[in-house]
Amino acid sequence: MKNMATEQMKMCRECGLCALDCPLLAELGESPRRLAKRGITAEEAYSCMLCGACEAACPEGLSPRKLFAERRDQAVTAGEFAADEYRYLFPDREQNLMKVFRDYSGVDYGDIELKGETESCFFPGCTLMTYVPELTRQVYDTLRESCGCGGMAVKCCGKPLTQLGLTQRADDAARRLLASFRAHKVRELIVACPGCYYELRPLLAPEGIRLRTVYEALGPATAGAGDGRVYTVHDSCPDRFEGIFGRQVRERLTASGFKLAEMAHSGRGALCCGSGGMVSHFRPDLTAGLVGGRLAEARQAGAAVLVSYCVSCAAKFAGAADGLEAVHALGLLLGRRDDFAAPKKKLAAMLEGPDGAAIWARIMAD
Ligand code: SF4
Ligand code: SF4
Repeated sequence: MKNMATEQMKMCRECGLCALDCPLLAELGESPRRLAKRGITAEEAYSCMLCGACEAACPEGLSPRKLFAERRDQAVTAGEFAADEYRYLFPDREQNLMKVFRDYSGVDYGDIELKGETESCFFPGCTLMTYVPELTRQVYDTLRESCGCGGMAVKCCGKPLTQLGLTQRADDAARRLLASFRAHKVRELIVACPGCYYELRPLLAPEGIRLRTVYEALGPATAGAGDGRVYTVHDSCPDRFEGIFGRQVRERLTASGFKLAEMAHSGRGALCCGSGGMVSHFRPDLTAGLVGGRLAEARQAGAAVLVSYCVSCAAKFAGAADGLEAVHALGLLLGRRDDFAAPKKKLAAMLEGPDGAAIWARIMAD
């Protein structure tokens, strides 16, 4: 049976607008209509960043992104994609890469982790709580004061499973997550990551659990302040259609005195940093030029600092910033300057040498 996205592509007029800013469609050189007709391969499906830039560009309201996403699901079901080789990414496994890295780095949230009953709970997301633990704690402390936040969920939203095409596994993880919120009587979740926000929203809405971004909940007083330099905000792909994070981050930075300039591609038209769809694990060659493109746009906008509100984006940019400063909006607002290039280097170091081989063997053990 053909999937919905494939059927939809019969309406594609082959105008080519979706391919203008997409390295995958440019590489394939075929319109989404033709791709749907011939059938895309599993390898092609896992080369898509699922960033939605094509969907935003399409005058017909079509979504090539969904075409690739649905093909991922099919590839897993048909056994065409060896998902198990990427089990280090499965957040529902005890020994996943993020958890092992937190242990390796001595990160322990035992004192603030969600335990008893609380109405309001902070949900930092995997990358924030793994890569920048001091910032995570400072955000939590600020939330505790500003809105009585009574615990932090040291959990994954499940998006990696969804993106890998592991639909059943993602549904099971979502059920367990929901059961945990019920058990702790959580009525409000304060979310730092746009990926988590949009992943969790359909899960929480039927439960009546309120979802707020961390930028809504931080309270009026933040320590960061503008310094006369020009800042530009890189918008995160999951936020491109609703712009909730993008709007709130700009409002808060402006209110704190940061001078903002816009890049040529922002908001709905934002371009992916290369982290989307976990493509850097499958086709790092395809995403290699994207970071450079974003940094060049930031410079063209006259910015000295590139601000992200997704830790994955901030880490991508920080590793290659070359003269620009790459930061996270939360750090700016709380008066911090964390090094976002450091965690990836430390992660690579963790996996080096005989000790690294032993850690890798533990991660991949079951
Ligand atoms: S979702 Fe992004 S990477 Fe995938 S086809 Fe659309 S624009 Fe290209
Ligand atoms: S922008 Fe829309 S109509 Fe144009 S080629 Fe892409 S999918 Fe087809």
